[in-house]
Amino acid sequence: MNRFIKVIIVATFCALPFLSQPLMAGKPPAHIMAFLMNNTPLKPTKVFDNVYCIGSVSVTTWAIKTSEGIILIDSMWDDNDAKMIEKGMIELGLDPKDLKYILVSHGHGDHYGGAKYLADKYHAKVAMTKVDTDFMNTLNKGPNGPRSPKAPVSMFLKDGDVVTLGDRSVKILVTPGHTPGGMSFIFPVMNDGEKHNAILWGGTGIPRDMKSKLAYKKSVEHFITEAKKVNADVSLTAHLFIGSGFDDLKAAGIRKKGEKNPFILGKDGIQKYYTQMRESINKAINN
Ligand SMILES: [Zn+2]
Repeated sequence: MNRFIKVIIVATFCALPFLSQPLMAGKPPAHIMAFLMNNTPLKPTKVFDNVYCIGSVSVTTWAIKTSEGIILIDSMWDDNDAKMIEKGMIELGLDPKDLKYILVSHGHGDHYGGAKYLADKYHAKVAMTKVDTDFMNTLNKGPNGPRSPKAPVSMFLKDGDVVTLGDRSVKILVTPGHTPGGMSFIFPVMNDGEKHNAILWGGTGIPRDMKSKLAYKKSVEHFITEAKKVNADVSLTAHLFIGSGFDDLKAAGIRKKGEKNPFILGKDGIQKYYTQMRESINKAINN
């Protein structure tokens, strides 16, 4: 089974109860809950020259090193996870004091919960969309339980915004569907000195209700259009239990200069990824 199909199968189960928490009761299937509740740290890993992955079996963050500090994408579940991020950064030779921005993909606790600790301690700016900030603040159960302190958002991002820090920029795409105001990201990564453009789809799970499914479909098209403009060929995710994420991280951690980086999908691989994104949402709509 290829990677994206696995992504959708897992993420659909995983995120459905999250997305539609106010609409439905019930927990994700036991094996998915087992992943989501598994705080076992993964080895903090330098995946690209300027991009690092720190996190647990449940969820990860991506740290982008720039000439003026560090941009973090997502922040895991809670204070303990934030301390894991802090420790991981130090292990990787990154100074947490250099944290300048925390870009939170969407208003679910597994993505925003560590932001408060890091923002309070290191004065990093926390950025989200206004819509998902409201969503975060009004949903207080399911993934948004008391475990996850509400993120102190100090910057609202809009579609097309570019967050620039020193020599690096992250383009913001607003991609509703999984949540009402989720974001996805496009940013350059350096692999052995060679530039590639990475895409990170913020809220993977396909929602249950038709209105959100149609929003998701529209977001997929927007995402693909923008990704194609920059010839993106790298795809990253916060949930490495999806697809071959753990193996890819391990392989990236031990690869030597010049060897294949598993996160680079290449021209054909990324095309397949787009096709499968479209097929998956179309299938969900037609069911
Ligand atoms: Zn989510």
